[in-house]
Parts: sequence; structure tokens; C-alpha cells
Amino acid sequence: MSTVNWDARLSEIALNVKPSPIRALLKYTKTPGVISFAGGNPDPAVFPVAEFAEASQILSREGKDVLQYGATNGYDPLKEYISKWMAPRMGRETKPDEMLITTGSQEGMDLLCSVLLNDGDTIIVEGPTYPGALHAMRNRGARFLSVPCDKDGLCVDLLPGVIEQGRKDGHKIKFIYSIVNFQNPSGATLSKERRAKLLEIAEKYDLIIFEDDPYGHLRYNGEHVPTIFSMDKGGRVVYACSFSKILAPGTRVAWIVGAPELIQKMVMIKQGTNLCTSVVAQALVYEYCRLGHLDGFLPKIIAHYGKKRDAMDAAFKKYLPANTRYHTPEGGFFFWLQVPGVDSTKLFMKAIDHGVAFVTGPAFYAEAGEGLDYMRTCFTFAQPEEIEEGAKRLAAAIKEL
Ligand code: PMP
Repeated sequence: MSTVNWDARLSEIALNVKPSPIRALLKYTKTPGVISFAGGNPDPAVFPVAEFAEASQILSREGKDVLQYGATNGYDPLKEYISKWMAPRMGRETKPDEMLITTGSQEGMDLLCSVLLNDGDTIIVEGPTYPGALHAMRNRGARFLSVPCDKDGLCVDLLPGVIEQGRKDGHKIKFIYSIVNFQNPSGATLSKERRAKLLEIAEKYDLIIFEDDPYGHLRYNGEHVPTIFSMDKGGRVVYACSFSKILAPGTRVAWIVGAPELIQKMVMIKQGTNLCTSVVAQALVYEYCRLGHLDGFLPKIIAHYGKKRDAMDAAFKKYLPANTRYHTPEGGFFFWLQVPGVDSTKLFMKAIDHGVAFVTGPAFYAEAGEGLDYMRTCFTFAQPEEIEEGAKRLAAAIKEL
């Protein structure tokens, strides 16, 4: 037991920090027999273990380099690979000084906030949004203004009003954070028209857009929508993507692309945190990609997750109460359900008793008291036979409540 009065010494940020709401719920999902629709995890059953083992051959070939400290901005061969591979989505090959390899997109968010925010500055976020982003942003002293989402993503028509009122109220707004494809948690994809409008608004009000896109490659039906980055001519879009959902989150390899002036500052901040992202991890991912495995793996997981999406959709239609509202996502990992009048926090414990877990709605809002009767269910992690059974259990919990 420490005799030090830590509260008297801790920073304001540390005094006010709260555990991630999702991680707090995850302990219940470990209860034996509980089917988890909670964490946003890929399916470990399809992890390309043998191909990764094969990619480890890079250690015999390049071991002397990849076991050394690396450049802070990332392992060059991987950066080159990503730049070429992403060119169709980005509208062009991005240059080396526009890209930084990060330890997960989570680090990219943290670095972006650290270079853009002063304490108390404001970020415009979607309501609902990814709680991990809110957490990273809060760690850097952010305040928030939320804009609602519907089935076509962020309601951009409401943005000018929020910006103008926010500025009147003294908010120093630094950027707009949007998860453009198969949003976490709503599953919505921002339509092309809205992307163009969002960019127009960002230009008019001179704001940066942070386009977070970890799910964009995972489309199960419908047409690909161009990235906002590819529509932007003024260098005001910062784009982030990750190997976490399309390959394996244990790699902790992701990347962020933006104006060289901004990337250079992020590189300097990163020099003071972890010097560089694990070169071994970057080299393994690079070799895996170079051998052509990523190109083979993506269609495989798209087919696999597409079937799971369909199974969850069918099971929800079959078992959930008729007043349950949701839109079937065209890709990604999540369904976002509203059961009007049902408090999802109360439902959570009841659902655990019935042997199924999800994430409660309020976790996804910057403000308290929002999203009470919503819940997020992930369809990628549970095994096919568990999806129907989990939906049945969820329906029974709702009925009992
Ligand atoms: N952005 C979004 C929208 C996410 O859902 C996640 C992971 N759940 C991340 C970023 C972080 O991903 P990672 O750090 O694993 O790259």
C-alpha cells in the first residue's frame, strides 16, 4: 500500500480519466457460456496464422535491419506498399512525407490531437461515435460538440448551425471527426453527396476533417464511395486506416496520411513517445503483403463476414421485438439497434443472465444521457451457430425486462 497522496500529485487529466466503457463491460463477456456481440473483434478463426509464419522469413533476410530501431515515420518498404495499394482509394499515390506509420490508429488519433489541440479546444464528433476516439481526445484535453447521424452518416445539414452556435458559445473548434464507412457503432456509410457537402462546409468554416476509415475495405454489398481525402484539393483532410480489421489487430500497425507540415509535427511528437512503431511488426506485415497474402485474404474475410452479417440480420428479424429499429450495414463489424423505451444499461445485466453481451448505447456519445435505448452488436467475432442463439437470448432478455 502506497503512503503517497497521489490525488494531490496527479494531473487534471489523470484525476478525471475514466476506464474505457467497452473494456469495463468486456469482463462480463468472459463469463463461461456468454456469447459475445460486445467487443469489435475480428474472427480469430480466420487469422492467417500460417501466412504470417511464412512472412517471418523476413527475419532471416533482413533481420539485422528490422531488429534495429527504425525511422520514426515508418518502415520504408511498408510505406511504399501502402501508398501504391491505397492509390485507388486515395485518388493518387501519397508521398512518403505525407504518411506516418502508427502503433494502431489509436496512436494516430492521439498524435493528431497532440499537434492540433490546446487544452479545452473542441472537436466536432458524430453522435454516436467510437468511444476509443473520445477517450484519446479527452486525454488531450478536448471538449466536444456532437452532430447526429442517420442511415447515410453524419447529418451534414446540421453542421453549419452547430459550428456557428459553438463559436458563439466560445468553442475553439479544431476539427471534425468522421468515421466514414460502416461507422462504429451505427454501421452507416457517409453518402458521396454528404462527403462533398462536408468538405464544402470544412472549407467554408476553415476546419480540418479527420477521416477515420478502418472498415472501408470490408464492404459486403453496394458500391464503394470515394474517400473525402480523394475529393480534397486543399490538404485539409487527414486520413487514417489500419491493419487491425483487415488483417490482425495484434500487429498494432496502422497509418495516417495528411499534409507534410502536419505529419512532420506528428513525427516529432512520436519521437518523444515511442521513437518508432515496432519495426519487427511493420516488417512482418510488409512481407505478408509482398507475398500477395493480403490480396488473397481480403476477399476471404469479406465473404466470411458478409455471411455473418446476413446471419445476424436474419436472426434479428426472426427473434427481436417488432418495434426494434436498425439499418442493415453494407459492411464493417456492427449493427446498431434501437429498442424504443428499453434502457440498454438495465438490459445489459439481464442479457448477461441470459448468456449474451453487447455494448450499451450511452458509451458511444460524448454527452451523458444520450443513446439510452440503443445497443451495438458485433457480428464478426461470434461463431455462425452462436449468432442465432445470441439473438434468441437477446430477445428473451428484452421480453423479460
Ligand atoms: N477507429 C475506429 C473507428 C475503430 O473502430 C478502431 C478500433 N476499434 C480504431 C480506430 C482503432 O484501431 P487500431 O488502433 O486497432 O488501429
